[in-house]
Amino acid sequence: MQNRRGILFILSSPSGAGKSTLARSLMEWDNTLSFSVSATTRSARSGEIEGREYFFKTNKEFLMMVDKNEMLEHARVFGNYYGSPREPVETAIESGKDVIFDIDWQGGQQLKNSTLADDSVSIFILPPSLHELRQRLFSRGQDSLQVINDRMKKCYSEISHWAEYDYCLVNRDLETSLEEIKSILRAERLKRHRQLFLVDMVRDFDNERETIL
Ligand code: ADP
Ligand code: 5GP
Repeated sequence: MQNRRGILFILSSPSGAGKSTLARSLMEWDNTLSFSVSATTRSARSGEIEGREYFFKTNKEFLMMVDKNEMLEHARVFGNYYGSPREPVETAIESGKDVIFDIDWQGGQQLKNSTLADDSVSIFILPPSLHELRQRLFSRGQDSLQVINDRMKKCYSEISHWAEYDYCLVNRDLETSLEEIKSILRAERLKRHRQLFLVDMVRDFDNERETIL
């Protein structure tokens, strides 16, 4: 029997708070973690590679995937569709591998209301201030002023869902946030209900006890 089922680690935040940066750092720290590459109808930013950041789809292709039940969750965010393809996640979880999701609150809610709820751990990342959030969107240097303004206008509707998450952290200093997320991962992996092998192990202790006492 495998040691445990994999965990769905859901990261949500307003755009620019740092979830992609934290997800990347986590995967460098633990190379057994995989990333759920979403499908989206938005166009690729410079430097984004098909199949690495996203699977870029037309509206028709995306909606076809939804119709065929190929998405674990999907939502419309900033005027585009985004969704998490089902198959790679189910395969990973069943073979005991943890998967990181960078999705919005709508996707987080759908996963928490799905049959994978017990396998899901959600973390909301807050920026230290909205001023700093705006600075980070600028410093990322990938969006136009109009896109940044649009994301800032909508940031509060994402932030308003913070209390629905299992954990919440304020991403002031990147190293500190990374340590905090690692602590969450370590503790969640040790949750008793996830350690499927313990039942057999303790039963074996019972048999062994008879031979040594
Ligand atoms: P998101 O994925 O939430 O949209 P990103 O991870 O792309 O956000 O981060 C947005 C920008 O903020 C990036 O330029 C990133 O390097 C920077 N950033 C992330 N975390 C911090 C932090 N703790 N302090 C300063 N800058 C940060
Ligand atoms: P971006 O366009 O900046 O990459 O992402 C915009 C927003 O869409 C972010 O809040 C991101 O977390 C969210 N997002 C990315 N992929 C998915 C997904 O598969 N499902 C949902 N629900 N949201 C997603």
